[in-house]
Amino acid sequence: MEPNKHKTINGDTSLVGVLGDPVNHSLSPVIHNAALLELNLNWCYLAIPSKEIHFELVVKGLRKINCKGLNITIPYKSQAMNCCTHINNFSKNIEAVNTLVPNDNDGWSGFNTDVDGFIAPLLYEKNWAKKKALIIGTGGSAKAVAKGLDLLGLGTITCISRSNESLMKFLNIIRPNINQKTNINGITKDNLSLKHYINESNLIINATPIGMTNKSIDNNIQQIPLGREIWNNLKKDTILYDLIYTPRPTEWLKLTTQYGCKRIDGLEMLIQQGASSLRLWSGIEEMPIDIMREAAHKELLNKKL
Ligand code: NAP
Repeated sequence: MEPNKHKTINGDTSLVGVLGDPVNHSLSPVIHNAALLELNLNWCYLAIPSKEIHFELVVKGLRKINCKGLNITIPYKSQAMNCCTHINNFSKNIEAVNTLVPNDNDGWSGFNTDVDGFIAPLLYEKNWAKKKALIIGTGGSAKAVAKGLDLLGLGTITCISRSNESLMKFLNIIRPNINQKTNINGITKDNLSLKHYINESNLIINATPIGMTNKSIDNNIQQIPLGREIWNNLKKDTILYDLIYTPRPTEWLKLTTQYGCKRIDGLEMLIQQGASSLRLWSGIEEMPIDIMREAAHKELLNKKL
């Protein structure tokens, strides 16, 4: 590889970035800028805050300044679809895009790389068939999680929602998008059989924001999805996968020590979905994942998160 030339921003530097509200705590700038330097791309990745009323104007405006690509985060993954002239089928079906790529028609093409990111830390296991997974939450990322589990070939996927309305909406969207052989069903969090589902699961994913706050001493804020007691039903070797990556570990993932379970947090998902976005923007297949991971770990250590 050529020696790195683009350590400073100059007149030829192009913009890439993430839009959301808030975005100031995003790790994506650190991860992406480390990759851009390694790939010798004269681009700069910024966290761009945008209020809801300005969001579509900002996205459309960024297309006019030769912006090379955008990530979209909470709460705009659905709204961003209004800014796209083309959306790939899966993103359209789950009504969420997290990556915008400039297209030849002077517009944006919308993609969703959360699925790639989610499955990356699970690919080591070759035989997911007949295994059972539980997804807590039925929001935007839960749809990417369900699709990811389907691609991995899980036998049964059960989703837990806090309301029947949200559950039905989720199942109606996701069912047409998954393999007909995959058994997908759902329950609400007050279902009396919940403990059996927990006990029988091989993989449990937290796709809610519960546990995201750092204020673990504040007893008024729920820190563990579904409450602490229900997890007494966990069996050894079940994998707990929290999409959250700060704090590390979350209170929920701390339970793995007590019950002899395995744990995965959301950092690898963040890195891998970022790498997939950068592949789409740059056309470069080989991503410097180790450099991106190292930059993320260093930043988390600096921030003591
Ligand atoms: P979202 O679309 O707002 O969905 C959140 C889901 O959690 C909804 O189903 C919501 O229920 C449920 N929920 C929220 N608060 C709850 C509570 N107190 N009790 C029970 N259920 C609750 O959010 P999202 O985009 O899916 O994100 C979810 C989490 O994943 C966030 O922490 C986000 O940071 C994380 N994430 C991480 C990555 C990564 O790369 N690591 C990527 C994407 C997301 P309702 O449906 O009833 O509202």
